[in-house]
Amino acid sequence: MEPEPVGLLCEGDAADRVVVPELQSEAHVNDPTPVSTALFPPAYLERRELYRAFMEAHVFPNEQLLDREDDAAQELVRSLQEQARAAGLWAPHMPAEAGGTGEGFLYYACMNEEIGRAHWAQLVFGCQAPDAGNAEILHQFGTEEQKTQFLEPLVAGQARSFFSMTEPDVAGSDPTLLQTRAVVDGDEWVIDGHKWFSSGAEGSTFGIVFAISDPDAATYKRGTMILVPSDAPGVTISPGTPVMGHGGRAWNTHCEVLYDSVRVPLANTLGERGEAFRLAQKRLGPGRIHHVMRWLGQMQRAFGLMCAHALEREAFGGPLADKQTVQNWIADSAAEIQACRLLTMDTARKIDEGSEARVEVSLLKFYAAGVLNEVIDRAVQVHGARGLTNETPLAQMAMHARAGRIYDGPDEVHRMVVARRILKSYAAGDPWQFG
Ligand SMILES: Cc1cc2nc3c(=O)[nH]c(=O)nc-3n(C[C@H](O)[C@H](O)[C@H](O)COP(=O)(O)OP(=O)(O)OC[C@H]3O[C@@H](n4cnc5c(N)ncnc54)[C@H](O)[C@@H]3O)c2cc1C
Repeated sequence: MEPEPVGLLCEGDAADRVVVPELQSEAHVNDPTPVSTALFPPAYLERRELYRAFMEAHVFPNEQLLDREDDAAQELVRSLQEQARAAGLWAPHMPAEAGGTGEGFLYYACMNEEIGRAHWAQLVFGCQAPDAGNAEILHQFGTEEQKTQFLEPLVAGQARSFFSMTEPDVAGSDPTLLQTRAVVDGDEWVIDGHKWFSSGAEGSTFGIVFAISDPDAATYKRGTMILVPSDAPGVTISPGTPVMGHGGRAWNTHCEVLYDSVRVPLANTLGERGEAFRLAQKRLGPGRIHHVMRWLGQMQRAFGLMCAHALEREAFGGPLADKQTVQNWIADSAAEIQACRLLTMDTARKIDEGSEARVEVSLLKFYAAGVLNEVIDRAVQVHGARGLTNETPLAQMAMHARAGRIYDGPDEVHRMVVARRILKSYAAGDPWQFG
């Protein structure tokens, strides 16, 4: 039987028809030479398979229900969390001694290529932002009492938290401008201020508040981080500020929080007084790479949808996959996603080895945010109008992705950090080393 004319990646035949002999002969289109394509250790890949299976069985089929954010969705989250816990997949960002199942950043990066695919999965596996970052900072800097009161319920999924730094009245990019004040009165802090974009504050148990405690100290010694129970008198948490039209509920909110003479014990100081800027780096570095890890899942999901749709949809005499522009999008996306994966692995490995990897984290944050937005946007474009509907997850993904260029530091600030640090090393006669 004559092969059907298909225009994909083929030369024309004698009759000037295009055919795909590989598809007809069922030969694999990839190079069959057996080489290892694994970037992660085999044990991590085996473990990742468990996340993949869980995602396919429990998360993807429930995504639309979860998106409704109603009581039934909240109940479903709780039930899925129990199943994730029973499957031994709970809290992969935390080590066993802190109640998790994690093994460090590289391990967590590997798991997130699956977890990151669906917005709700981080909540299902108990590793959602901002709780994951808050748990890490409590694990590193909390006192034993703070660990018992705040960290243990957080990792166990019995409590949620928020990170309260950004304020509406000053540029969040420059935390030296923060205005929220904390004053010592006896053995208590008294906190006054106005924050916004405190994600997940609705329904939370406590927040980590960045307040200016020593306004006359050296610039980076002025702030203190303080653990504040959400129900402390004087704390008012407003419903979530809508972001791109989405108000959200509970964990999925970005709330305005007022602190009006809020009193908490001095024992709620996280780390030392005056250490907020240092802790913020410790808190935000891991938080940023956590975001990027999840984005790897989002990018790959969008990429898969784009390729599948390009092969299936026909226009102007052949599949979209035959169009040079679409091929360019696919090729560029493949290159950029792989670059993000390798940058993530490199950064995760350095953090696991004890480095703060400040340049690498900043570089990765702005680069990956750009790739994430580009890849999702190309996938939307290939889907045409359908890409903007709820028939695919792409519209939701695009909404969340856009914020990634702003939260935890806008692109421009991370570029500035990278360039300044690199230039500083050159100015000191010590050229920047790539590896
Ligand atoms: C979805 C979402 C969730 C968030 N969650 C939290 C949270 O949980 N807790 C929290 O505390 N905050 C949170 N934020 C706030 C976020 O971290 C801040 O929005 C961010 O730090 C930027 O601060 P800003 O919005 O005040 O912008 P500004 O600081 O006012 O900056 C505005 C713009 O100015 C430009 N700019 C700034 N500095 C420079 C520079 N040096 N060079 C060139 N251009 C520059 C950038 O384009 C920037 O986008 C969240 C934000 C979003 C969108």
